[in-house]
Amino acid sequence: MLLVKNGRVIDPARNTDTLLDILLDGERIAEVAPRGKISSSNGFETFDASELIVAPGFIDLHAHLREPGQESSETIETGTRAAARGGFTAVCCMPNTKPVNDSASVTRFILDRAKAAASVRVWPIGAASVGSKGEAIAEIAAMKQAGIVAVSDDGKPIATAKLARQVMEYCRSLDIPVIEHAEDVSLAAGAVMREGVTSTRLGLAGMPAAAESVCVARDVQLAELTGARVHIAHLSAKGSLEQVRSAKQRGLRVSCEVTPHHFTLTDEDVQYDSRYKMNPPLAAREDREALLAGLADGTVDAIATDHAPHEPALKDVEFDRAPFGITGFETALSLALEQLVHSGRVSLMRMVELFTSGPARVLGLERTIAPNQPADLTIFSTEHAWTYEVKESPSKSRNSPFDGRKFKGAAMATVVAGRIAWKR
Ligand SMILES: [Zn+2]
Repeated sequence: MLLVKNGRVIDPARNTDTLLDILLDGERIAEVAPRGKISSSNGFETFDASELIVAPGFIDLHAHLREPGQESSETIETGTRAAARGGFTAVCCMPNTKPVNDSASVTRFILDRAKAAASVRVWPIGAASVGSKGEAIAEIAAMKQAGIVAVSDDGKPIATAKLARQVMEYCRSLDIPVIEHAEDVSLAAGAVMREGVTSTRLGLAGMPAAAESVCVARDVQLAELTGARVHIAHLSAKGSLEQVRSAKQRGLRVSCEVTPHHFTLTDEDVQYDSRYKMNPPLAAREDREALLAGLADGTVDAIATDHAPHEPALKDVEFDRAPFGITGFETALSLALEQLVHSGRVSLMRMVELFTSGPARVLGLERTIAPNQPADLTIFSTEHAWTYEVKESPSKSRNSPFDGRKFKGAAMATVVAGRIAWKR
């Protein structure tokens, strides 16, 4: 039994913002009561959350844990340790491992490794197509049986509209979301950053914003055709966001996530430094402004990290040759506090929603603090001053553009299944 007491509980699913004590009994929340009402004389382990926010456990819809196959960049053990330090209690891992998670046996391998070595919950995402090659549909029903929570060919889009339709129809009957890495590969071919004044000045090949929004348009149309739940991953462009907004207004089951790097940085920050190279690339100022507006007004459903570790040897090369992706677990909450809450753009309640009930809804789950709910909590400070030092990260990779950044606010403890998985 673990008693989390004296905390300010913010629970968007119930619109609660009040001082509560929470008693956890193993996997489940046993009791929630006003401060001081739960007797702690029974020898419970106690966590004093005075001056801290207590939220439902944060869920990251989008991460790469690199296991199986690329363990020199990350493992389920190291990645989930980094996730716990960022306040995440559950991470969805993308299927672009080696081998690709396109079968129940790979899904089971990931879940077995997670059971043995993970600090937080690991929810695998299965491939939409065999090998994510965009040809034949993967064994989605068998993977769902084994434990996947969604499908995606992330790293690339589902290759053709015909296949995307087929995957959506299949996933609709299984009631799981299709997560789309929206990219028109013909428009993006050869590009290493966003097309614009900066790419011209740097002499780097750029992709237009339409490389993303053309594919979002396709997927919104197919969501309408099939009735499927379609989730746009790492949405970065204003035009994409406008399409999601209008799809929602039309009642389609379309959702989207935004990454901290896209709401914090722009293409102007790119300076031949591979830590600023990711896909989709950092966008224009007007895109960032649109994302901030979408995060505030409810169009965006979730903040997701797209944690994409690459071992230093892979990333320490010329910008053109470096792989896409940056790490993200440990800086996501602090960047959200900095960019959204301390700036006055978004309420604390709404920010917590973007990490909890928002992503839960995308997966068809509930995230709230109430008896019988999973005993997962994220405990954080809005004030704690700290500096992110990438060399202290438990991740095997170091590819963060936020190394050395000073923050106000941080995760202070992560509780998974009633146990403290990490505390500062
Ligand atoms: Zn992606």
